[in-house]
Amino acid sequence: MKKDPISSAVACNLCTGCGACAGLFPDMIRMIDDPENGRRPVVRKTPQGRLAADKAIAVCAGVGSDWTALQTRDHTDEEWGPVLATWEGWAQDLEIRHKGSSGGAVTALAEFALTSGTASGVAHIAARRDDPRLNEAVISLDRAGIMRGTGSRYAQASAAETLGAIAAQDQPMAFVGKPCDVATVTKAIEAGAVPARNIALTIAIFCAGTPTLLATQSLLDRLQVPKTARLTDLRYRGNGWPGLMQAEWQDTDGTRRVSRGIPYAEGWGGILQSSRRWRCRVCTDHSGAFADISVGDPWHAPPQGDTDAGRSLIVARTERGRAFVEQAIKAGVLIAEPRSRDVIALAQPNLKATHGAAWARRLSTRVIGLSAPRDHGQKLVGLWLALSTKQKIQSVLGTWKRVLRDRLWRSVRVSETPQ
Ligand SMILES: Cc1cc2nc3c(=O)[nH]c(=O)nc-3n(C[C@H](O)[C@H](O)[C@H](O)COP(=O)(O)OP(=O)(O)OC[C@H]3O[C@@H](n4cnc5c(N)ncnc54)[C@H](O)[C@@H]3O)c2cc1C
Ligand code: SF4
Ligand code: SF4
Repeated sequence: MKKDPISSAVACNLCTGCGACAGLFPDMIRMIDDPENGRRPVVRKTPQGRLAADKAIAVCAGVGSDWTALQTRDHTDEEWGPVLATWEGWAQDLEIRHKGSSGGAVTALAEFALTSGTASGVAHIAARRDDPRLNEAVISLDRAGIMRGTGSRYAQASAAETLGAIAAQDQPMAFVGKPCDVATVTKAIEAGAVPARNIALTIAIFCAGTPTLLATQSLLDRLQVPKTARLTDLRYRGNGWPGLMQAEWQDTDGTRRVSRGIPYAEGWGGILQSSRRWRCRVCTDHSGAFADISVGDPWHAPPQGDTDAGRSLIVARTERGRAFVEQAIKAGVLIAEPRSRDVIALAQPNLKATHGAAWARRLSTRVIGLSAPRDHGQKLVGLWLALSTKQKIQSVLGTWKRVLRDRLWRSVRVSETPQ
């Protein structure tokens, strides 16, 4: 029998793990943490499961999204999605700025969404209390809850798993997630699965790709956390900018231990980054084009050392987003100065090149008969043409090399234990 469309998306490397399908149909679809393939949905093998998957695929941005409604006025917009205005700044609140991944702008804006009455709750990601290697999607109603989200989690997370609750509660919510999570929220609104009035604001964090649970385990090994220990905390970013990767655990006799901290560059470059799944390598939106506001690191003015005072790059994508950032600055919640719109390219040269290369990666996979996401209306060929000859060749030959190395023609099969 033909696979249901959600299981097919997983099998063909199209799923980003956003969690929307499971969030909207929790009785029929559940997310599992596959150590090697990522957090992915599993559909019940019943007629009702099939029906749920047939409906859920309409909100899935993993298979593709529609860029035609996004306003693109010039090259900057074509390369990054709508960029209405940009700022560089940080949370006025010292605790948020310190704990935040870059300058704590996301947490400050999320808290302001609550205190200003814009939203009744904030949907976001937090480390699971029982096992901080894993993440959970939560809706926070107060500062304490929102603070659980500070610091990026360079690990699998399904932010859109809260969509079912958001649709059911019928209250305006702020939503925080990666670009692919926010793209799904936009698609869910367009498909009528979530009323537009229930999403008061969307905030995306920039994202170069999510590492797997196996990579998290390698990080814990590097931090010399004993296998028998009870892990109580694992931080990837924050506590200064960009922050150290560090773990806390309890020994079998109950003693609290703290690992050494390794620099972000060592943890990301040396351990985590290589585990990113193929879907992240063909991702053409690393900066949150569908969000009201997106936030990343202003790498063009890099931190001095590993735990500098944090700074964020803040991008308004919609008029609603621009007005909200301006209100936050006026209220003193955010300390931020306007920057020219091209600062995004200065801050993220690697992501710009990645958008161009991903276009060729998609084409190269299709040429050999494999599936690739389809984002209608996104103009990427110009970015590919702007790559050096070496980069252009690499984007095509590198794809075919990886197809062979990772046997990407095989169906991805997920399970909760290593395969
Ligand atoms: C996997 C990953 C890759 C990234 N790659 C880049 C990059 O290439 N360039 C760049 O500039 N920035 C990147 N970032 C984003 C960057 O680390 C910061 O998140 C961003 O600058 C916002 O910082 P902040 O201090 O304002 O956020 P904070 O105030 O610390 O808030 C972080 C928010 O992000 C949410 N969050 C954390 N982890 C996840 C997750 N895995 N999935 C969904 N939501 C999550 C939390 O719920 C919280 O609300 C990446 C983040 C992640 C998780
Ligand atoms: S991308 Fe999201 S909606 Fe699509 S299959 Fe994966 S988890 Fe489900
Ligand atoms: S790289 Fe793209 S697809 Fe992968 S997690 Fe980030 S936003 Fe999602």
